[in-house]
Amino acid sequence: METKTMNIKVEKAKTSKIDQVDFENLSFGTVFTDHMLICRYKKGSWKVPEIIPYQPLTLDPSAKIFHYGQSIFEGMKAYKDDNDDVWLFRPLDNCRRLNISAKRMAIPELPEEYFMDGLIALLKLEKDWIPKTPGSSLYIRPFIFASGTGFHASPADEYTFIIAFAPSGAYFSGKVKVLIEEKYSRSANGGVGFAKAGGNYAGQFYPTQLAIEKGYNQVIWTDDNTHEFIEEAGAMNIFVRINDTLITAPTSDRILDGITRKSILDIAKDEGITVEVRKITVSEIVEAAKDGSLKEMFGAGTAAVISPIAAFGFRDVDYDLPQLSHSYASLLKKRITDIQYNRAEDKFGWRFKV
Ligand SMILES: *Cc1c(COP(=O)(O)O)cnc(C)c1O
Repeated sequence: METKTMNIKVEKAKTSKIDQVDFENLSFGTVFTDHMLICRYKKGSWKVPEIIPYQPLTLDPSAKIFHYGQSIFEGMKAYKDDNDDVWLFRPLDNCRRLNISAKRMAIPELPEEYFMDGLIALLKLEKDWIPKTPGSSLYIRPFIFASGTGFHASPADEYTFIIAFAPSGAYFSGKVKVLIEEKYSRSANGGVGFAKAGGNYAGQFYPTQLAIEKGYNQVIWTDDNTHEFIEEAGAMNIFVRINDTLITAPTSDRILDGITRKSILDIAKDEGITVEVRKITVSEIVEAAKDGSLKEMFGAGTAAVISPIAAFGFRDVDYDLPQLSHSYASLLKKRITDIQYNRAEDKFGWRFKV
């Protein structure tokens, strides 16, 4: 990796908010650091990013983000180890995925060095904000939206790229009970499900609210065509363990290509676990739950890493999953977080030193 980074202008905040933050009791994504990176696309090119104090934005009411939803984001984390060294996990994958999302949403692609050098410069400036309490990390939110103006339904001519940081505590989801959804869909063939596009999440909120009203925490999305195959768990990829085989759905137009998902696949294989990447039917899960071969289900994504599912509902019947003392979920979570926090050898070459 190139160590020389470009010159990024820094306007420092006059005062720091860091003393007001209780780093022992952080929730997720609600406290923001002193600075942010901002980069503008104008007249056909991305301008050099700058670091400025964290602040509200001024936007024209006709900015296309408000009307046509051209908006994409990424989610990643920075980790501090016992020696106060700072690490990222597969950051280039986030950078490339942001550009995959950009392309699909007719947003101009961002040069990789603007993303990487901008992120590194901001991390170096905000190093003291990276929490060290076990399980906590600095959540990183890079995003691009259409700041260009006009009511015409067409791509904007101006865009804004921002990176903001939120020091965040461990993500405890508690006992997650999920509902297998057969009416609503989060994505469709030819659609934008594979992109981290803002509207995908807006479209999930209502069906999720309905599931919450019925006593569930989250929705398991099935394919839009037949609703016979499970695809994702909320905004996470989904894994199912039947007997000792770990199964996840193949990525597609409809399924986001998660970095946690693909890392789990590699670690599981390395552990000697039998892994299958294939379509998973709702009926096989129900059958497996009935005959006791369904051992685990969990969601996988950057925020929670792995979120075990305690029970699922399908057609008004609830099915409990067993409580295992040696689950794949806890084994895989330990292995991936040990790599992320520099507590274990990184045989896959995923860690990135800042
Ligand atoms: C972000 C996201 C994931 C998880 O991706 P990671 O790279 O592992 O964080 C999975 N599904 C959806 C819909 C997502 O938005």
